[in-house]
Amino acid sequence: MTDSAPLDVDLALLGGGGAASLLLAALDRHGVRDQRIAIVDPVRRRGQDRTWAFWGHPDTDLDPLLSASWQQVEVATAARRRVLDLTPLRYAMLRSGPVYDRAADAERRLHATRIVAPADTVRDDGTRVLVRTGDGRTVRAGWVLDSRPRPPARAGRTTWLQHFRGWWLEADRPVFDPTRAVLMDFRTPQPPRGVSFGYVLPVSDRYALVEYTEFSPDLLTDAGYDAALTGYRDLLGLDPAGLRVREVENGVIPMTDAPFPARPTPRVVRLGTAGGATRPSTGFTFSAMYRQADQVARALAAGRAPVPAPAYPRRHRWMDAVALRALDRGGVGGPEFFDRLFDRNPAERVLRFLDGGTTPAEEVAIMNSTRLVPMIAATAGDAAERVRDRLRPTRPAPAIPPAVVGTAPGAPRPT
Ligand SMILES: Cc1cc2nc3c(=O)[nH]c(=O)nc-3n(C[C@H](O)[C@H](O)[C@H](O)COP(=O)(O)OP(=O)(O)OC[C@H]3O[C@@H](n4cnc5c(N)ncnc54)[C@H](O)[C@@H]3O)c2cc1C
Repeated sequence: MTDSAPLDVDLALLGGGGAASLLLAALDRHGVRDQRIAIVDPVRRRGQDRTWAFWGHPDTDLDPLLSASWQQVEVATAARRRVLDLTPLRYAMLRSGPVYDRAADAERRLHATRIVAPADTVRDDGTRVLVRTGDGRTVRAGWVLDSRPRPPARAGRTTWLQHFRGWWLEADRPVFDPTRAVLMDFRTPQPPRGVSFGYVLPVSDRYALVEYTEFSPDLLTDAGYDAALTGYRDLLGLDPAGLRVREVENGVIPMTDAPFPARPTPRVVRLGTAGGATRPSTGFTFSAMYRQADQVARALAAGRAPVPAPAYPRRHRWMDAVALRALDRGGVGGPEFFDRLFDRNPAERVLRFLDGGTTPAEEVAIMNSTRLVPMIAATAGDAAERVRDRLRPTRPAPAIPPAVVGTAPGAPRPT
C-alpha cells in the first residue's frame, strides 16, 4: 500500500517489541493523551516469544503480570550451592504474552496508528524526522523512538554473545521447588573460551523453564544446544521419562563493550538493546528498558522531550568492559568470578550493581571482591586498547546473529 501524503505524528516508534511495548504501557499509565503516535514494525508481536527474568522491588504495576516470583535464588558451582535471600528485592518471571497484550490495550487507548511494515530510511533535519516505510509510506514525526535491532556503531574490544536454549518442562509428578529459582548453576561443562551455566525458573512444582546459557564469542549448533540442555537436565536429576517439553525458547543477546549510541541524531532516541539497554556483563536488559520507558513517559507527561537517562552510568560500562575483557582473555574464570561476587557481597548489592544502581563506595567493595591481579591486567589492557582505538580506523561491528532455532517440527522430546 502506498500513500503520498505523509502521516504527521508527534512520536514514531520504530520497532514494536519489548522496549516499545513497555513504552506504550508507560504512556498509557502516565495518562499521556496529547501525543499522536505511530508504531512501525513488520511484525505485530503477540503471545509467548520470550520470557523475561529480572529483579527489583515488588511493584504494583508489573506484579499482576508475573508468572512467578521468588524471594530466594540459588547460585551453584561445583564446590557449593549457595541460597541467596534477595529481600527486599525479588527475582521475577514475566512472559511476553501479558506484556504484548497490555501494550495492545494501551495502543488502542492512545489511538496510535499501526503500520505493519519495516521502517527503511530515517532522516532527521533537526526539527522533524522523515521515516520511509517498506510499504512506501512516509511518516513525519516530531520524535523517533527507535528500537529496531542493529549492530553497535563500531566493533567493541570484546565481542561476546549470550546465547541460550530453554525448555518449558512439564513433569508427571512434583520435581521442582517453586519457592526458589536457580539463578546461575555453573556445574555445566565450561566452554574453552567463555562461561556456561544452567538455570531453572519454576512456576509450580511440575512446571519450569530450564535453560542452558553460554556467554561466549560463537553460537552452538542446534544439536549442540540440545546436547547441552539434555546434559543439564540430567545434572538436575530429572527423569526424562516423566517430562514433556511444552515449549522451546532460543535467544541471542549481545555482550560487548561496543557502543550503542542512544541519541544518534537530535530527534532520534534509541531504546532497548539498540539503545544500550543490554548490560554487557550479563545480557540483562528488561529492567533498563522498563526504567527508560517510565522516564520517557514521565518526560512527555510533563511536556519535556522524550529522552531517558543513559541505561547505565558510564563507570558501569567501563567496569563491564574490564570484566568482559578479564573473562575473555582467560584472566578470570566465569564461575569463580560470579561465585566470588555473591560470596563477598550481599546478594541485594550485587543485583543492584548489575542494574547500575550502586554507589561508588559499593562499587569499590564489589571490585575488591574480584581477583585483583587479573582485574588490574584487564584494566591496563582495556586502557591500552582504548588508546589504540583512537588511533586506528573505526572497525565495523559484526551483526548480531539470529538465534539457532530447532529444526525438528515441534519441541524436541527429552531422550
Ligand atoms: C528469547 C529471549 C529471552 C530474553 N530474556 C531476557 C531476560 O530474561 N531478561 C532480560 O533482561 N532480557 C532478556 N532478553 C533480552 C531483551 O530483554 C529482549 O531481547 C528484549 O525483547 C529487547 O527489546 P527490544 O525492543 O530492544 O528488541 P525486540 O523485543 O527484539 O524488538 C525489536 C522489534 O523491532 C522490529 N523490527 C525489526 N526490523 C524492523 C524494521 N526495519 N522496522 C521496524 N521494526 C523492525 C522487530 O520485529 C521487533 O518487534 C531476552 C531476549 C530474548 C531474545
